[in-house]
Amino acid sequence: MLPYSTQLIEEDDIAAVVEILRGSHLTQGSKVQEFEEAIAHHVGAKYCVTFNSATSALLGAYAVAGIGKDDEIITTPISFVATSNMAIALEAKPVFCDIKMDGNIDETLIESRITPQTKAIVPVDFAGKPVAINAIKEIAKKHNLLVIDDASHALGSGINHQKIGSFADMTIFSFHAIKPITTGEGGAVVTNSEEFAIALRLFRSHGIVKKQLWNSDMIHLGHNFRMTEFAAALGLSQLHKLDRFISARETIAHYYDERFRNHKLFSTIHIDEHEQSARHLYPLLLNPQLHCVKEEIFAEVQEKGLGVQVHYKPIYQNSFYKQHYGEQRLNTAETFYKSELSIPCHQKMSLNDAEAVADIVLEVIEKYSYRGCSF
Ligand SMILES: *Cc1c(COP(=O)(O)O)cnc(C)c1O
Repeated sequence: MLPYSTQLIEEDDIAAVVEILRGSHLTQGSKVQEFEEAIAHHVGAKYCVTFNSATSALLGAYAVAGIGKDDEIITTPISFVATSNMAIALEAKPVFCDIKMDGNIDETLIESRITPQTKAIVPVDFAGKPVAINAIKEIAKKHNLLVIDDASHALGSGINHQKIGSFADMTIFSFHAIKPITTGEGGAVVTNSEEFAIALRLFRSHGIVKKQLWNSDMIHLGHNFRMTEFAAALGLSQLHKLDRFISARETIAHYYDERFRNHKLFSTIHIDEHEQSARHLYPLLLNPQLHCVKEEIFAEVQEKGLGVQVHYKPIYQNSFYKQHYGEQRLNTAETFYKSELSIPCHQKMSLNDAEAVADIVLEVIEKYSYRGCSF
């Protein structure tokens, strides 16, 4: 099965991890800091604080932003549940804003969702395509809100060659196995705020500051959300390959773009000239006449060896969200969910693989076109 996304681990990645395993510090040595400095440098932010996942990084970002009971964040329903879950974990309420057909939050609708309880806008750079971050920052500034960008898909993405991570008040990256680079499990917050960086480090590690000799002091409630040294060594080794990984995904994506251009039954997501996408996912958007046969299409391409996936069921459709916040429906998010199908696009694929994927996708989709849906 050719997965929609997967890691690429090479001999030097393995050597970097083994070196740590043979050394003295498995945790709390110098590799984590080295990795953090490299990430901050890569994206053009002052500070990077790593975590053991993007989920704990999101929790940290919300916590140090002061988001708590009865506060609200405005976010997208087309994301992994962690984006909004971590606000709920702090007793805040996620307010979902509809999206555009590129999968990103519709910045023109954000203002209508602002209330006196709103503390932050939390967009997600879907599939690696940058959100309209400058427009979102304008809105945030006008209403005195923070922008916390969940860029779990978007390490290496940018706008006019300025990297995601340098725009928002805080930006979160994921290093889960299938994300743009991996540490196995892992995540990070990048920020230009020293205050946030200090608070994030305390939050990550028990809220403890060292005083002198044995004396330390716990000044905030904290957790243990630290990354290990071997994870950081893997991340550092992978970070050196990020540009190569992205260009491999870009080659595949460009091939698909050409192959699928102006298709009658589905469309793809356009990356503008001035945007750089990490190409974490390659989404197809089925036209409405195929929505009723999407399950069949999904099952059949899987049967033919393509590990396709759907990103995402709108978060508010999950049972937990329905129980706590009632039924919700955002039109474009609903349409997007009915349309979206992510096909394999990763740095382990060759152009031949991409050709085979495109052949299967076209064969299956075209086969179902005759059925048509009534809508
Ligand atoms: C993967 C992902 C997360 C969670 O990342 P973990 O590192 O697995 O905790 C959060 N948000 C988005 C948009 C993601 O894709």
